[in-house]
Parts: sequence; structure tokens; C-alpha cells
Amino acid sequence: MKKEENISVLLNTEYDFVIENGTVIDPKSEMRTIANVAIKDGKVDVITRADLKGKEKADASGKIVCPGFIDPHCHVDGYLYNGQCYAKMGVTTAITGNCGFGPYPIKDFVQRINQEGFPINHGTLVGHSFDMRTMVGLEDPFKEATSKEIQEMVRIAEEALEQGALGISLGLEYAPATTKEEIHALARLAAKYDKVMPVHSRSDSWGSVKALREIVKIQEDTGVRVLVSHLTYQNGMGMMKESLPIIEKAYREGYKIGVDSGAYHAFATYIGSEVFCEGWLEKYDCIYEDVLVSSGPHIGKRLNEALYKEILETDPKTLCTAFVGKEYEVIEAMQQPYVMVSTDGAVGSHEPGTGHPQDAGTYPKVFGRFVREMNAFSMMEAVTKCTLMPAEFFGLDNKGWIGTGADADIVVFNPKTIIDKAEYSGLGIPDAPPEGIDWVFVNGEPIIRNGELIEDARPGKAICQKNKIWTL
Ligand SMILES: [Zn+2]
Repeated sequence: MKKEENISVLLNTEYDFVIENGTVIDPKSEMRTIANVAIKDGKVDVITRADLKGKEKADASGKIVCPGFIDPHCHVDGYLYNGQCYAKMGVTTAITGNCGFGPYPIKDFVQRINQEGFPINHGTLVGHSFDMRTMVGLEDPFKEATSKEIQEMVRIAEEALEQGALGISLGLEYAPATTKEEIHALARLAAKYDKVMPVHSRSDSWGSVKALREIVKIQEDTGVRVLVSHLTYQNGMGMMKESLPIIEKAYREGYKIGVDSGAYHAFATYIGSEVFCEGWLEKYDCIYEDVLVSSGPHIGKRLNEALYKEILETDPKTLCTAFVGKEYEVIEAMQQPYVMVSTDGAVGSHEPGTGHPQDAGTYPKVFGRFVREMNAFSMMEAVTKCTLMPAEFFGLDNKGWIGTGADADIVVFNPKTIIDKAEYSGLGIPDAPPEGIDWVFVNGEPIIRNGELIEDARPGKAICQKNKIWTL
């Protein structure tokens, strides 16, 4: 087709949706320009400065128009409430089943998402350290697997990959008896199909540097593409300076390794959990007052020795938030060019009013606080970390960029006002929606319209990949 004809086709087409006059950012081509984005049949059809006809239009003057955010590490696990919270913060694709647990059987998950729909696109991994171990009868995380049990886990994992799991996730901290043989058997399977192996390392805090080396070694020994899960939540307790050179060396030597990292420096869990077992003050190098009570009658109070003992005895299910991470290490990690943004959100918080602020604030925090307020990295870098990098690592070819033929997963936000509002329980509302996100499109259909969630919209699809293997 000649150029003139091409333009006349554009001008005569009525598009499903046209996003007009926004500042379009495409991380793949590193393009940043003011243009109109036209959507047709769930895809981006064209990006142009020409005036286009659309069944519907949105004015994006002064706003950023970029690919929707892709969260490589979450625990949304098919829960509608979390899917909607994620849409509100600009996420259009979420990968769940991390840290060794998630939806199962995979075919039921895929079928349900595709039949019922979901607010956002949703893919899953198959989990090892809780799920597969339990399935072969290893309820005790301190018990080593026999070679027969390992074989059975490999069988389960292979079936899950065939049914559409995007990889195999490990939560080594939760299953300390996991052996090298066990990891290698699963890693070789993932490597055979070139699937991803996200690893929640064996230890946070003091043991985190050694635990990181173990992940690099898994890739070296088996060839699997490893993804270091939530780096800051493992190594961001004063160990970042020692940790980053390990990853950099691996990159220089050509290792297939990815890294995702969160935006917060405090974690929340039950006071009766293993985290607060004897020796926790030393382990986290903290004092009682570093911990905030986040549920129950003492909500909002800082711990002291007496209150700790009282709550532990009377109500061990009380949620506590431990401010034991280093805030500057959150930034230090995220500034590295190889680190992508993740939430680690929605862990067990599938109801309104619960959870960690990462569930509702991660991406607006990155753009509002880290980019705008702190200038920690550029807008283009931030968009890349939140879109193209996870898409490429997981092999999602039509996602993470914006241009002709890309899936129309798009977020439109105001760079001057985007901000997170979610706060730790006890300090504020943990799932308060962010401000400054005007439109979110999933497969060409709005899920956020003029800043409001469309409650009954379910444009999301299950993300699956076929198992491919080299044949000669
Ligand atoms: Zn984890």
C-alpha cells in the first residue's frame, strides 16, 4: 500500500477507542512523543498525530500513555478483589503462584480465568515449597524428600507446565530441608522448556547474601532462567552492598538471571509466626519499638517487651508490621538497571481493608515518590522496569511495549499527581486506592475509566505459554 492510501485508510477507520494527545512512552523503542493511540480488536492499531475517528475517545493531554504495568511477583491467586486493586494501580498483567505456593490445578485456574474473565490478565507459576511438597506427602518442611518423592514432584511440575504454568516457583525459606537434588530436578525440567524459576531465597537478613549465591549457582548448574524474588525484602536489611556485586558478576559472565524488587521496607505477619521466634531482635538487628501492631485492640501502638509478651500469649494471630528493612536499600536496589519492579502483594489479604500497602500502592509509589519526588531514576527507566523487563523475562511477546500489533494493555496517568495512598494497618488504610491514574485498558477494554473502577469489567485473560522444546 502506498503511503497516501495508508493515511486515508487510517482517517476513514472508526477505531474502538482513541487516546488523544497523551505523551506516549514506549520502552522498546525508547520513544517519547505526543501522539494519538488507536485501539482496534484488543490491539494497538496505530500511533499517529493524525486526527482519528473513534467510537470512544479519551483526552490524555499532559498525561503519560504507556504499556500497562506487569507484576512479575504477586499472590493475587485469582481473587477478584485483589485483581481490582491491582487494576487501580495500573497493573494490567499479574503473575501469581510465587514463593512456592499458588493456584492448583493449573488447568482449573486457566479455565476459570478464561471462562469468567478477570479484571486484569493473570498468569501463574506452579509452586514447589508448599504445594508440590505437600502433594507428595511432605507436610513437614524440615523433612528431606526421597528420590521417589522428587520424581513425583517433577511429574506434577511437568503436568502443570503443560497446562499453562509459566514456570516453577521456589520458596526455599519456607522449606529449609529442600536439597540440591530436589532443586536441580525441577530446575532442569524448567530449563528443558525454557520456563522461568523464580526463587524466594533461603534466608532474609544475615543469611541473605549466602542465599543469593545459591540462586546464582542454580542457574550455573542447571541452565534454568532464575528470577531472584523480591530482592529488597530478602537482602534489604543492610546487606545490599554485598548482594549487588554478586548479581552484577553473574550478569557480566552471561548468566540467565532476572531480579525483581518491591517498594517498601517493612513486612507484616502474625506475632505468633516463626518470624518472631526467639532471637528475632538479634536476627533483624532491631528493637521492640520497630514493630507496629496492625490488628486487634492495640492497633497503631508500637511494641515494647511487656506488650509483645502479652499479645503473643493472648492473641498470637495479631498482625504486626516490622520496620526492619532499610529504606535507602529499597531505592538502591531499584536503581540498578537489571532490577524490575514487583509487588509481592496480596499474601492472604483477599478482603477489603486488609493487607500490606504494597497491594494497592507499589506502582504509584514508584512513579510518584521515586521518580517525581526523589528523582531516583528517569521516567523511561521506571516505565521499562514496570513493563518491558518483566514481559521479556517471561517471554510475553505482545506485552510490555506500545506500538502497532501490541496487546492494548495501556495505562494513562498524570505524572504530576500520581501517588500512593495506601498505608500500613495501624497508620492508615492498607488498600486505599492511589491518585492520578485516569485510564487503564486491558485487551483494549477500559477497566479504569476517568479514575473510576468499572466494577463488572472482566477483560483479562489467562496468560499461558505452550511448552516448546528444541527438536532437530
Ligand atoms: Zn516470597
